[in-house]
Amino acid sequence: MLFSLASNTQIIYLMGMYDTVWLNCPKCNKEHGFQSKSGECYLKDYTLENCPDDALANVNRHSPCECDCGATLSVEVETRKVIVKEGSVCLTLARSAHEIQKCG
Ligand SMILES: [Zn+2]
Repeated sequence: MLFSLASNTQIIYLMGMYDTVWLNCPKCNKEHGFQSKSGECYLKDYTLENCPDDALANVNRHSPCECDCGATLSVEVETRKVIVKEGSVCLTLARSAHEIQKCG
C-alpha cells in the first residue's frame, strides 16, 4: 500500500474515527469502551444512557466482548442493556470463536 502522499494522511485519520460507548461489566464492574462507527463518529464518549440511537445501532461491531472476569458482553440495542454470557455458553452463541474479542 502507498501512503506517501500527504493528502492520504487526512483520509486515514478520518477512517480511524469512531465514537465510544462506555459501559460497566455487570459481573465485575470493569469499564469497557465499545466502539461505534455509525452516527457522527467525532470521537465522542457516550454511556448507554446518553448515546444517540444512530451511534448505538453499531455498538456491537466488536462484540461480543470478553471481559477479564470471563463474562462475555454485548449490548441489547433496543433496551440499552448489557447482556452477559459466560464461559462455553458465549462460545456456542458466537458464530465463530474469532468473533470474540478482548477489549478494555
Ligand atoms: Zn467482567
